[in-house]
Amino acid sequence: MTKKVCILHVGGTIGMALSEYGWVPAKGFVERYLKSIESRPALPDWDLHRLEPLLDSANMRPSDWVRIAGEIVARYDDYDGFVVLHGTDTMVYTASALSYLLHGLAKPVVMTGAQLSLQDVRSDGREHLVTALILATLEIPEVTLYFGAQLFRGNRAQKIHNHDFVAFASGNLRPLAKVGVRIDVRFDLVRPAGSGVPRAVELEREPEVIALRVFPGISETLLRRVLADPVDGVVLETYGTGTFPSAQAGLLDAIGEAIDRGAVVVNCSQCHSGRVHQDLYGTGRALSDIGVVSGHDMTPEAALTKLYCLLGAGRPVEEVRRRMVHDLAGEISPL
Ligand code: ASP
Repeated sequence: MTKKVCILHVGGTIGMALSEYGWVPAKGFVERYLKSIESRPALPDWDLHRLEPLLDSANMRPSDWVRIAGEIVARYDDYDGFVVLHGTDTMVYTASALSYLLHGLAKPVVMTGAQLSLQDVRSDGREHLVTALILATLEIPEVTLYFGAQLFRGNRAQKIHNHDFVAFASGNLRPLAKVGVRIDVRFDLVRPAGSGVPRAVELEREPEVIALRVFPGISETLLRRVLADPVDGVVLETYGTGTFPSAQAGLLDAIGEAIDRGAVVVNCSQCHSGRVHQDLYGTGRALSDIGVVSGHDMTPEAALTKLYCLLGAGRPVEEVRRRMVHDLAGEISPL
């Protein structure tokens, strides 16, 4: 039987038009392109659902993650898979958040977009959309991101280029599929299907989370301001294997005081590949001593959205600390 895919058009360059204000979201391009490929035998059936207003993903907020998850959950039983057309700028944040909010997923959710609008004759969006439709019919029950002929686990990907067609990479997990003349899926890397998504998606509150990139010369005054109440979740983007300017007076105290007040501080590396080994150097061990938890090989984007979703779900701080170091949706590799 022909499979059926739901396409959610959220926004992004793929459907944008050039205006006097530069590229802005527009209606019609996605619809027109889909019409031109209707009833091709290799493709599943689809329905297109446009989320209003279409957004440049730079304008997306956590409430949009919850809304997209809700749209998927509401249609979950009616489709074999989902394609989410989204801007590239914050696509990995949304993909990561969806992987947590749709915990238990047993169907594919493929996110994609484009560097060039479908308005452009050279748009990469055409191949992305067609291939995403096909990928959404395969046994890949995860939130994934398809771009530049590679399929990534969504919570492992990072945007690495703002004009190459290969715009995403996944530093700590090989692509789940490579697409050429054939579609080669690494089923050994794909997560097993879950037992089904929640009936409804909602968060109890909007936590105050922040990503803080450590840099040489970071001052105690600045750090104290950034970590002041009401911050309740921090992704500390450290150097290399998780090292921090521990010798600089006051910095560790500022972080330690935030933790004592109940903030969850997670250590992720600024490096695109590799794992945090917080205790390898004294400069990282100092963070363990004050209660900073290791983000292992999570991307900062995956860690930030995980903090947001766990704290937003109203989980107690101790539970959030525990869950941050354990894999929830394939975002952390086993030790
Ligand atoms: N600013 C656009 C967006 O993220 C960029 C893109 O889609 O490539 O919506």
